[in-house]
Amino acid sequence: MRQFENQQTVQRRDVKSWPVGNLGETPVTSAAMGRLTRARWPAMRGATKTKGMTMARQPSTASGISNETQLRPTSKKIGALRALWPFVRPYRMLMALALAALSLTAVISLTLPLAVRRVVDNFSVEDAVILDQYFTAALGIVALLAVGTGLRYALVTRLGERVVADIRKAVFDRVIGMSPAFFEKTMTGEVVSRITTDTTLILSVIGSSVSIALRNLLIFAGGMVLMLLTSAKLTGLVLLIVPAVVAPILILGRRLRVMSRENQDWIAASSGDASESLGAVQTIQAFTHETASRSKFADLTNRSFDAAARRIRTRALMTIIVIFLVFTGVVGVLWMGAHDVRAGEMSAGALVQFVIYSVMVAGGVGALSEIWGELQRAAGATERLVELLHSDDNVRDPEHPASLPTPVTGSIQFDNVTFSYPTRPDTSALDGVSLDIAPGETVAFVGPSGAGKTTIIQLILRFYDPQSGRIMIDGVDLKSLNREAFRRSIALVPQDPVIFAASARDNIRFGAPDASDAQIERAAIAASAHDFISALPDGYDSYLGERGVMLSGGQKQRIAIARAILRDAPVLLLDEATSALDAQSERAVQGAVDALSAQRTTLIVAHRLATVKKADRIVVLDQGRIVAIGTHQGLMAQDGLYAQLAKLQFTGGTDTA
Ligand code: ATP
Repeated sequence: MRQFENQQTVQRRDVKSWPVGNLGETPVTSAAMGRLTRARWPAMRGATKTKGMTMARQPSTASGISNETQLRPTSKKIGALRALWPFVRPYRMLMALALAALSLTAVISLTLPLAVRRVVDNFSVEDAVILDQYFTAALGIVALLAVGTGLRYALVTRLGERVVADIRKAVFDRVIGMSPAFFEKTMTGEVVSRITTDTTLILSVIGSSVSIALRNLLIFAGGMVLMLLTSAKLTGLVLLIVPAVVAPILILGRRLRVMSRENQDWIAASSGDASESLGAVQTIQAFTHETASRSKFADLTNRSFDAAARRIRTRALMTIIVIFLVFTGVVGVLWMGAHDVRAGEMSAGALVQFVIYSVMVAGGVGALSEIWGELQRAAGATERLVELLHSDDNVRDPEHPASLPTPVTGSIQFDNVTFSYPTRPDTSALDGVSLDIAPGETVAFVGPSGAGKTTIIQLILRFYDPQSGRIMIDGVDLKSLNREAFRRSIALVPQDPVIFAASARDNIRFGAPDASDAQIERAAIAASAHDFISALPDGYDSYLGERGVMLSGGQKQRIAIARAILRDAPVLLLDEATSALDAQSERAVQGAVDALSAQRTTLIVAHRLATVKKADRIVVLDQGRIVAIGTHQGLMAQDGLYAQLAKLQFTGGTDTA
């Protein structure tokens, strides 16, 4: 619920306008990701799978996210960014305004050197009034530039935030409705990382990179033209110098990228190690493994430092070479230009103007080269998000759903149902199961572990579709119904009750959002949860901690039972609902469950046969097949599997069921 509360803020790097600042240590490629996967995954893929429910660990911390974005695989296909258009389209106006502001500031930036030239060239003019006019005009231009830049920032960033918020919502909306088969293939940690890290990358592209790229493109193109117009000769000279500057950038830049990848590999390895150790801190301490853990972490951290030191040395060397070459070039151009000025072939203002343009153009090229990497990363992110948005779900609602009779009576039929889980197509979890459950009946399912009891419950909720046969509620095939509609008639107490990071009250209210506080309390009393909730520091308002870490197993079950009681649905599914309770609370809860099941169709899965004795019928399952149906007495008399299980339990044998 609060899974995404830690939404990380984007760490956007402002692209520097000076080429030296853009000797980008470009992102990690897919190959490096492969190497990183194992090291990084403990943190990222920290998904805890429980039967039927999958919970994700919190994504990494705010400081971790920028590292994360660096580590995302890139895509060579920048065209993948086109998939963002449906999300940008609704904000066309905003985009047009942003483009207008962007073009305005680029044009103003390009006119500034012209103004500087005028000012420089008019220094000798006696007429102070003209000089004043130039400066006043320059002030006006500067003001326009300031306002334009501010506007551009506000519009572009707003557009980025809007689009990314929409993408996040679209992905979450899609994923939250996916059937469990999807989560068997895709780790929840990965989904969370796509929603946070990948959208962060897209945010940095729409909210800054694209506008910076466009601005620099305009400045580059305009600057080149104006440079040529100012002095074709000097422009030629600059173009000659360019290869000399670009060569070391390319050669050392490539080495730098390898080194920075190595550095990130070690950082990832050390954070993976830290997260694994911290996650198992009690085991580490209990086995007095701290010294070994400390030295392992120290070793990994030192290696990442060593890699960083190598990278820093190379980068420093590159900075020295590039700055020297760039300024040698500038000095060279100035030198030649100064001769031209002396010879009267060029005005001093024109020379200044030329130098400013060449610096602007160089800055533009540098910025573009850095942004290319970002665009590739964002293209990779877009591909992954689009894949999620378009992911197929085998379980789908019909286009024209049938409707259930009102009120729902709660009869359930299994008609020759055969089912195997998608990940294990060769083994049948249920094999030719046929069963009619009358409205209001209480049916218990027993059988050895893995017999298919929970599978029955999962199919009634239509988490999966059977390969053959039909499952019906009130005579209507589940496949012809809207899942949300029929699930409203069902209350579930799952095998591993899920507690959300919210108050006790909100946890009980989960399945009946409109319930009053008094109703919540009544449900809690019925589930024997009232006493322990009242004893919590803030009573019903006590925060239960993520996944209910502040509760015992039995307490969690009682909250889950209260939740089901409050839902007050015609069909009640209890999957090992009382397995974690001590004898005393089980008796109390059993009373509540008995009262609850008296008025509705109830399906109970239980290992403890004492729990199922009172059921109207007991269904004995073995290896996905129904092997017997009857009452406790009837089944005991048959001396079959049920009698064997019962004997083991009631004669003090271990619980084999
Ligand atoms: P237990 O009493 O231990 O909870 P059960 O009778 O409820 O067992 P089910 O959970 O219904 O058994 O499982 C039936 C069979 O299906 C088992 O062999 C199990 O390994 C398999 N199974 C359960 N869930 C999945 C899944 N998501 N993917 C693949 N196989 C599964």
